[in-house]
This record gives sequence, structure tokens and C-alpha cells, in this order.
Amino acid sequence: MFDLTGRVAIVTGGNGGIGCGMARGLAQAGARVVVAARNMEKSNAAVRDLRALGSDALAIAVDVTDERSVEALVQETTKQCGRLDILVNNAGMNIRKPANELALDEWRQVMDTNLTSAFLCARSAYPHMKGVGGGKVINIGSIMSIFGASFAPVYGASKGGIVQLTKSLAIAWAKDNIQVNAVLPGWVDTDLTRNARAEVPGLHERVLARSPTGRWGTIDDFAGVAVFLASAASAFVTGAAILVDGGYSSLG
Ligand code: NDP
Repeated sequence: MFDLTGRVAIVTGGNGGIGCGMARGLAQAGARVVVAARNMEKSNAAVRDLRALGSDALAIAVDVTDERSVEALVQETTKQCGRLDILVNNAGMNIRKPANELALDEWRQVMDTNLTSAFLCARSAYPHMKGVGGGKVINIGSIMSIFGASFAPVYGASKGGIVQLTKSLAIAWAKDNIQVNAVLPGWVDTDLTRNARAEVPGLHERVLARSPTGRWGTIDDFAGVAVFLASAASAFVTGAAILVDGGYSSLG
């Protein structure tokens, strides 16, 4: 039910952080993983890690904010791997400023990286998934898809948009046997949040105090949900937004 042997998966931002944790899960379940990000040095290191887990992984450079670059990624994937079954829209960034200090180009940069990218990648992947009789799209939102944060208005807007995009794609592509779901991570120890902890005083302690599980998430916490949403096990799950936050959002 969870076997991904013969499946081909693109993971954007798969060269580090949560994307790397998901890529490892998919590789261990048998998928051939394409690590898609800008920094090829980091991507090649991730590929070595995935090959050690048994995946015939490869790296393809992409800037997910660039329409042509995204189209080239999907084309190159299907050329080298022969098919495309799974797309993980994970690449993301944040600019932490209140709205009154945020420049328009900063707003656009975050929206393009976190939200428009998911649309571009899914649109390019769609005909290939349809062509093999189905597929899986996994979009990475955030607990900020549901919470506001004074220091992250554009990040929250982009991640709220991810949930709504997920629902619309799920409805539109159900007839093609393509399931589209979102994962909403809580606070996870990665490069992204190392910067946040440096920039937001007291954040580390506040997260620990609020988390019922009493810890930050790790990238390994995302392997299982990736395999579930990429496999036949989730055949009747579509349009969902699954919190992976150690219970953080359950506390009133
Ligand atoms: P990291 O900063 O560790 O990883 C971000 C990844 O995105 C990198 O691999 C980076 O690779 C890639 N990336 C960024 N911009 C682009 C671009 N323009 N084109 C291609 N790739 C790009 O962050 P996380 O692992 O923490 O975050 C992963 C996802 O999870 C993001 O969507 C984030 O918003 C979300 N998330 C994270 C949380 C956390 O606590 N860490 C909480 C909630 C959500 P490269 O630089 O090589 O391009």
C-alpha cells in the first residue's frame, strides 16, 4: 500500500530541511527522487544521501519562481526518468517584516517563491500525471496557513493561499485520479527557522512552552506523511490540509 517502486517524484527544495526529510521518506519507499532547487552543490550532496538509501536519485537545477525554469524541470524529469507521478511543492522562504515595513518587491518575492511556484509546478506536471493514469501533488503550507503573525504577513498570505490552491486543484483533477493535498508543518528545526530564532527574540522558548510534545519538529518527522500522501494508501484523501505540528495548533 505504501510501496513507491517505479514512481518518479520531484521534490522542490529537496536539497535541505523539510524537503530533504520528505525526499528521504519517498526514496526509502522506493521512488526515484528528483531533487529540484537552485544550489547544485547542496542538491548533489542530497542526491548522494538518497542514493545511499537505494533511490536512483538525480538533481536538476530550478528556480521555482521562473516559469521557463519550471517547465524545463518537468521536461528534463520526464526525459530522464520517463514519467512523473509525484510532485512535492516544498520550496519556500520568508521575509520577516510587519506589513508597514514591507516593500512591494519583497511581497512579490515571497508570494512567487511560496505560492505562484506551486501553481507553476502543478500546471507543468498535470499532463504527465494524467498521461500515466494519475498522480499525487503535495503542497507545503504552514501553521501560518491558519494563524496570523505580526512579523510575517506575506508569508501567512502565501501559506493561506496554498490551502485554497490545494482544494481547487483537488476538485479539478479528481477526475484524472490526481490527489492534491497540503501538509502544514509546525515549528521545525531547519535553516529557515534558525534565521527566525535569530531574528525573533524569545521564539525558541515560546515554541517549546506551547508545544504539547515539548520539542521542535525535525526533518525526519516529515518522511511518513510524504509517503502516505504519495502512495495508494491515500487514494481517497484529496483537498486535505494535514497538520504536522506536534499538537501546537491544538492548544487554545
Ligand atoms: P529551508 O530554508 O531549509 O529550505 C528551503 C528550500 O527551498 C531550500 O532547499 C532551497 O534550496 C529551496 N528554495 C528556496 N527558494 C527557491 C527557488 N526560488 N527555487 C528553487 N528552490 C528554492 O526551509 P524549510 O525546510 O524550513 O522549509 C521548507 C518548506 O516548509 C517551506 O515551504 C517552508 O515555508 C515550509 N515550512 C517550514 C517550517 C519550519 O518550521 N521550518 C514551518 C512551516 C512551513 P536552494 O536555496 O538551493 O534553491
